[in-house]
Amino acid sequence: MYLKNSQIIVVKIGSSLLVDENKKIRKKWLSSFANDIKKLRNKNQKVVIVSSGAIALGCKKMNYNKKNIKLDQSQAIASIGQMELMNLFSQTFARFNLNISQILLTLEDTEERRRSLNAKRTFENLFELGFIPIVNENDTIATTEIKYGDNDRLASRVTQITNADTLILLSDVNGLYTKNPKIFKDAKLIKKVSDLRKDLSNVNIKGMNEFGSGGMQTKIEAAKICQLAGSSMVIANGLYNNPITKIIEQNNCTWFSPKISKLDARKKWIISSVAPKGEIIIDDGAKKALRSGKSLLAAGIKKISGKFKKGDHIKILDKKNVECARGLSSFTSDEIIKIMGHHSNQIEKLLGYVSKSEVIHKDDMVEV
Ligand code: GLU
Repeated sequence: MYLKNSQIIVVKIGSSLLVDENKKIRKKWLSSFANDIKKLRNKNQKVVIVSSGAIALGCKKMNYNKKNIKLDQSQAIASIGQMELMNLFSQTFARFNLNISQILLTLEDTEERRRSLNAKRTFENLFELGFIPIVNENDTIATTEIKYGDNDRLASRVTQITNADTLILLSDVNGLYTKNPKIFKDAKLIKKVSDLRKDLSNVNIKGMNEFGSGGMQTKIEAAKICQLAGSSMVIANGLYNNPITKIIEQNNCTWFSPKISKLDARKKWIISSVAPKGEIIIDDGAKKALRSGKSLLAAGIKKISGKFKKGDHIKILDKKNVECARGLSSFTSDEIIKIMGHHSNQIEKLLGYVSKSEVIHKDDMVEV
């Protein structure tokens, strides 16, 4: 069982677990959750909690309806609600002698390598101090273009940054079903997913998007990130009291097993970027070269799209627009426009200055 052998566990809880439909705080549930966390800590397992609820609790305090608030207003509401959220955690967790801290992240904090390494170090130091970091997106400054928006993918990135063994997504459904269980009586719970593409080829994920805050789609994306980070992930029903004990005892949930990954930490980070900045379309010759582990050269580039800087995450697609790799560009998009299709020995002449000869170096690239 993955959970028993996990040294670091990330648990994501959605707003609907903290606040019920009548806007009442589910205090009893939160205590039972804290009790579960205590059991994990007693076994020396390190825990990170990714919790939503800033906006829900801010709305509750201000007596606002979540549906009627605009983005800039929601940022202020999140600032009010985040305090409420942390107060709730600190009061409840103190009763179990659990120390907590707060980490607010934005998309850029996980996508930029230097910042993600800083975050990693902070998590490690908090583990060392025996504290439980409680993470949320920094909703007060995140705007639509640079926002996760859902805590499923944020939690999977936290799993990867902290090198956690397991991510538990506590949702308001038991897991992933073969069909939408609200419509189809014969829908079956899928207990285990090893290969996302093969195992889910007949499942209509989009048709199940009414579930959870980010829907099933973001949970599957989170699973993809976890699998490639070598972590296992489980979607389980968090509405029950003692939801983690319930997973251990009943296992009525959906597990996503990790793909055994030989990628080093840097490559893992490249491949799981949630927001690549551009795309490069390459010819068959370049595709063959990539497959045999070579760098991407300007000569093999047919087309590019997006505006990006040096070091940005780029998707590499073949002629048929199928993604074949991801990497960090050594050139800006403007520079690539000037050099694409040309032999590397022409680069200096075309740009007017000396630069690297590979557009994406093999060490900065991962096949997908
Ligand atoms: N960060 C948001 C909040 O705390 C929630 C995002 C989500 O529901 O996944 O309200």
